[in-house]
Amino acid sequence: MNIKSIFIKINGTVQGVGFRPFVFRLATSFKITGKVWNTEQGVSILAQGTDEILTSFVEQLKTSGPPLSSIKEITVESDISDYNYSDFSIVKSTGGGKPQVDITRDTAPCSHCISELNNPADRRYHHPFINCTDCGPRFTIIKSLPYDRKETTMAEFALCKECSEEFTDPSNRRFHAQPVCCNKCGPVLSLHDVDGKQIDSGNTVAEAIKLLADNAIIAIKGLGGFHLACRADSDKALNLLRSRKGREEKPFALMVKDSFIAEKYTIISDKEKKLLESCERPVVILQKRDAVENILSPLIAPGINTLGIMLPSTPLHYLLLDTDKYDILVMTSANYTSEPLCSENEDAMIRLHTIADAYLVHNRRIHIRIDDSIVRVIDNSPVIIRRARGYAPSPVPADTSVEGIIGLGGIMKSTVAVGRGESCYVSHYLGDASSIPVLNNYEQVLRHTMDILGVKPRVYAHDLHPGALTANLADKGVPVIKVQHHHAHAVACMGENHLKGKTICVVYDGLGMGTDGTIWGGEILLADRKSFERIGYCKPVPMPGGDAATLFPGRMALGALFNDYRQYSDTVCGWMDESERRAVISILESGIPLPYTSSMGRLFDACAAILDINRKQTYEGQPAIELESIVSKKEFASYDIQVDFDISGRGIINGPKILFYVLMDLINNIDPALIAARFHNTIVANTVSIVTQLAEKYDINSVCLCGGCFQNKVLFENCVSELKKKELHLYSHHLLSSGDECISYGQVLIAKENINVSCYTG
Ligand code: ZN
Ligand code: ZN
Ligand code: FE
Repeated sequence: MNIKSIFIKINGTVQGVGFRPFVFRLATSFKITGKVWNTEQGVSILAQGTDEILTSFVEQLKTSGPPLSSIKEITVESDISDYNYSDFSIVKSTGGGKPQVDITRDTAPCSHCISELNNPADRRYHHPFINCTDCGPRFTIIKSLPYDRKETTMAEFALCKECSEEFTDPSNRRFHAQPVCCNKCGPVLSLHDVDGKQIDSGNTVAEAIKLLADNAIIAIKGLGGFHLACRADSDKALNLLRSRKGREEKPFALMVKDSFIAEKYTIISDKEKKLLESCERPVVILQKRDAVENILSPLIAPGINTLGIMLPSTPLHYLLLDTDKYDILVMTSANYTSEPLCSENEDAMIRLHTIADAYLVHNRRIHIRIDDSIVRVIDNSPVIIRRARGYAPSPVPADTSVEGIIGLGGIMKSTVAVGRGESCYVSHYLGDASSIPVLNNYEQVLRHTMDILGVKPRVYAHDLHPGALTANLADKGVPVIKVQHHHAHAVACMGENHLKGKTICVVYDGLGMGTDGTIWGGEILLADRKSFERIGYCKPVPMPGGDAATLFPGRMALGALFNDYRQYSDTVCGWMDESERRAVISILESGIPLPYTSSMGRLFDACAAILDINRKQTYEGQPAIELESIVSKKEFASYDIQVDFDISGRGIINGPKILFYVLMDLINNIDPALIAARFHNTIVANTVSIVTQLAEKYDINSVCLCGGCFQNKVLFENCVSELKKKELHLYSHHLLSSGDECISYGQVLIAKENINVSCYTG
């Protein structure tokens, strides 16, 4: 028998996912001898066997890895050294080089762990931290790579004899599961009253359930931070939560034990069920059942037709829902608006003092804070609304080396992105970067990501907007490139779809600084990764009072109609307070230079105000979300409004004219559900008209649909179905959110193409 040796190097997501135990079991089953170990580049294997066996071994390595692993690259070299291994073993990790492995994400308990959790005979019965190689915490507890227990926040928990045996037994499903623990040796729960005093009780979870059942608001430490939990069927609890948290109308996320219970409250498709049950455990946006407000508090998601529901993401959540006292809980991020999540016990007890009635905490530290992800099925595919726990920090492809290029993101709802090799590591959602505590969290995540990946910054990219605070995170002395916001949106969508050449990008968005000094947001760009040309836009309108026009959409409506339909200034938004109306009109008449915007988001806001669907925006996107909620599915008509082209041949969507038709319908007592549908249909018809004319003019048939407005299901699905009829190739986001969370990634790709340009202006 001719025995030979091979040396295999694998990189990708291969640490913290049970890859070495998998290699061990596979090698043993093939009777291969040698060893496997973690390196900073991934996993290395030295294997000895016959040619034939080694070939099958490598084949199986590629195709049958553990559920959470993914191989980016595998290299096999023959090794002529004279080894003589008698068995196969897992040996100590080596460090010292440049880390190349990916950071593994956190996942929900697997089905094996759940059945042990519920089995009174199992030694981990009701253990709130049960996990195995296929599930549990990763990203939130890792301090540095390679991924070993000593580099995690589990390091301080010494393994008991039984756990240690499982950890070292290659046939055990917890073999080398770094966060392994049990009731004897793992972290422990404790329950504290409003002043932080520990509530002594024989059964902490049972006590917490009792408090929740009695309408208490409890701050609960989860995987990546604290949640605030309370009963979802209690107006009393919800009223308290809204007033204490200072959250007027933004919907609260809910948690239920399984998708059967979710179905009691919402209508769920197969795709949505799969998403709910996926190991990432995102909040899934689902359609409310008609009578749901009879069994749930109407204060959960006022004014909209959807609920955000997730299944448990930790064993503790399973235990808290194992009761007949309630079957659904509000589970909302425990932070004040514009502050990052609370992650440590003492910090939570100080910051949440005026919100929570009690604290359910534990003594495992959270190294990196992360929110829950939010996903919605649109056009029959999962679309990420907020990318965080379970998804981040999986890398996004760059298709070119972006080593050392750092994207600092936008202003609202942002992220940071770190380029390494041909991948871009886009952080999880970090919140609104306009507050100092949130900005400090940005800095921590950015440094942690660069450290853990071993990346040295070569160039920083940030938003063109002079008020972008994230720009301050760039190291002094490192070159900086300013990137136009909507170009970044466009290129992020192109990048995800591996597009490099010129593409028509429909960017319907909120606000972003344009290159002409006005505020953009309803743009059609002819873009590649280096530059762009603005080939279409929404007709710019004044924003009376600047930011106040975003907060109070009635002002936006008055502003949008003012230049062309001034005679209706006293008719539009009849609900408006007269003194406010006069004040807004006098600003518009005064001749003071006002900011102008082409934002599509603001056009939706104005429509919502005219129809009296929304008078005040209490969370981002609220007017548009509420407008979408009332759209009649049976109305297919649109307003007979043609698109214009300016002297440079750029297409124009006449927003004021569309709003004027909306107003006329309203005056004629047409049902707002029909008007909302006609408004959406007209935007779609105008978009299709402009895009098809420009596609022909420029002889390009690739079209990206991007920007935050495409989180609107009606707008996106109708644009897709109409544009598909024109035989255009459509692209949209599938890895990142179409909102501003993708900006940092777009910035990295654009900076790469402009790296030697001292001043990038789009
Ligand atoms: Zn498990
Ligand atoms: Zn143990
Ligand atoms: Fe944006």
